[in-house]
Amino acid sequence: MVASCMLRSSFLCPCPQLHHPSNSKSNNSSHFCTPIKATASTNNAITPSAQTQKHRRPADENIREEAHRLSSSHNFSAKYVPFNADPNYDEWYSLDEIVYRSRSGGLLDVHHDMNALKKFDGQYWRNLFDSRVGKTTWPYGSGVWSKKEWVLPEIDSDDIVSAFEGNSNLFWAERFGKQFLGMTDLWVKHCGISHTGSFKDLGMTVLVSQVNRLRKMHKPVVGVGCASTGDTSAALSAYCASAGIPSIVFLPANKISMAQLVQPIANGAFVLSIDTDFDGCMQLIREVTAELPIYLANSLNSLRLEGQKTAAIEILQQFDWEVPEWVIVPGGNLGNIYAFYKGFQMCKELGLVDRIPRLVCAQAANANPLYLHYKSSWTDFKPVKANTTFASAIQIGDPVSIDRAVFALQNCNGIVEEATEEELMDAMAQADSTGMFICPHTGVALTALFKLRNSGVIKPTDRTVVVSTAHGLKFTQSKIDYHSKEIKDMECRFANPPVEVKADFGSVMDVLKSYLLSKNSKQ
Ligand SMILES: *Cc1c(COP(=O)(O)O)cnc(C)c1O
Repeated sequence: MVASCMLRSSFLCPCPQLHHPSNSKSNNSSHFCTPIKATASTNNAITPSAQTQKHRRPADENIREEAHRLSSSHNFSAKYVPFNADPNYDEWYSLDEIVYRSRSGGLLDVHHDMNALKKFDGQYWRNLFDSRVGKTTWPYGSGVWSKKEWVLPEIDSDDIVSAFEGNSNLFWAERFGKQFLGMTDLWVKHCGISHTGSFKDLGMTVLVSQVNRLRKMHKPVVGVGCASTGDTSAALSAYCASAGIPSIVFLPANKISMAQLVQPIANGAFVLSIDTDFDGCMQLIREVTAELPIYLANSLNSLRLEGQKTAAIEILQQFDWEVPEWVIVPGGNLGNIYAFYKGFQMCKELGLVDRIPRLVCAQAANANPLYLHYKSSWTDFKPVKANTTFASAIQIGDPVSIDRAVFALQNCNGIVEEATEEELMDAMAQADSTGMFICPHTGVALTALFKLRNSGVIKPTDRTVVVSTAHGLKFTQSKIDYHSKEIKDMECRFANPPVEVKADFGSVMDVLKSYLLSKNSKQ
């Protein structure tokens, strides 16, 4: 949070409209006030007393109503277009239509009116976004909605469903970088420090907000459904519960843990436990949503990527708009790797930065169709049968967003790497031993980093960001198995099991002395 604290203290304009200069000369900026930059070297900083005089909303008005009162009109807009379509090709849909695929059955993409956004320069957007970080103003206190103009520009703030997600920690992995990689500028973007413990919140706030709007427009949406074994259903059920929208979750019976089940159950989702596997659940929910007015929240839904892309913008913002060399993202269905690309690319196109980082997509070797495709120099893509992996959220053999991922990687000189089960679990244990507590997916990303450092592709001083996708506390069973060396065919080299000792002073002293001696001899 260090970076965002610094950002916060240098921009004291929590609610741009309140400070709108009445003699504004520029038509362009009339919709928003340009935040006032109060640096230490100038005297025109807003003084604390001016701040306390700042007019507070009336007691009978909540923050949603305040946002509504202050909302201003603008000309930003977005629509669905077929993914990567020719700009002259005329197929598009309003975001208020319920549509998941293009006419030819392909993926859709949310396309923003870039000319309208380009009326404002990079400095304007940097200042605007910086002015909103970490405040409580509705809805900009969210890391996603602080970029509202680039996410869902036309939604009324009043329709937004948010838990002020995003603004996640970007921390310096000092000891891990130094000890294991000889690196000085290694960072972890911890998207798992989030409302439901994974980055899925960033996309789900957008999807559920749009559904909330559709329901208010009396579109036929009775509830929202998904097939998922873990993080997607947790995020969906939390955001739906927050807005009072029914959520329906299809889960494969006896294939998921209590920990994965408990989030949707606690949040009041209608949970169907079905005697099939994940693919079977997916097939069923597709058939069901074709018949019933249930909105489908699965990964081909392009709205979610609009929220997920804000994590990329946040990384740039947290580095004071300096661009890192590398960003490493674990990939399964491959929506997130494209979302990162899209976020970085928008920042470049709109002049906030002048280049984008190289992206690395990291896959589990047990579910590596993108890796194989990359190794074949992007010649024919073949789905694979995914085998069980500790990185369960990326155990996907036929990724929905394959075209999006290939597009992203080809346009940023990207790389794909893979991690065996042993490599990813060792990397996770090594990271944990330096004070982290990461999930197995992040272990996959760290393995990719190890490999690219060893081959010299990533240099010791390259500024590198590893994206951590979920909270380690969601994946404790894998750590328990590892540290008790109970994993078949795995050495568990970095296991740190508890020492069993008799309850007497002598025995305890003996084990402690030999422990301290061994530590001493290592120094
Ligand atoms: C969903 C998920 C992923 C994979 O993201 P994709 O967009 O499917 O590539 C990785 N890690 C975690 C923890 C996830 O929940």
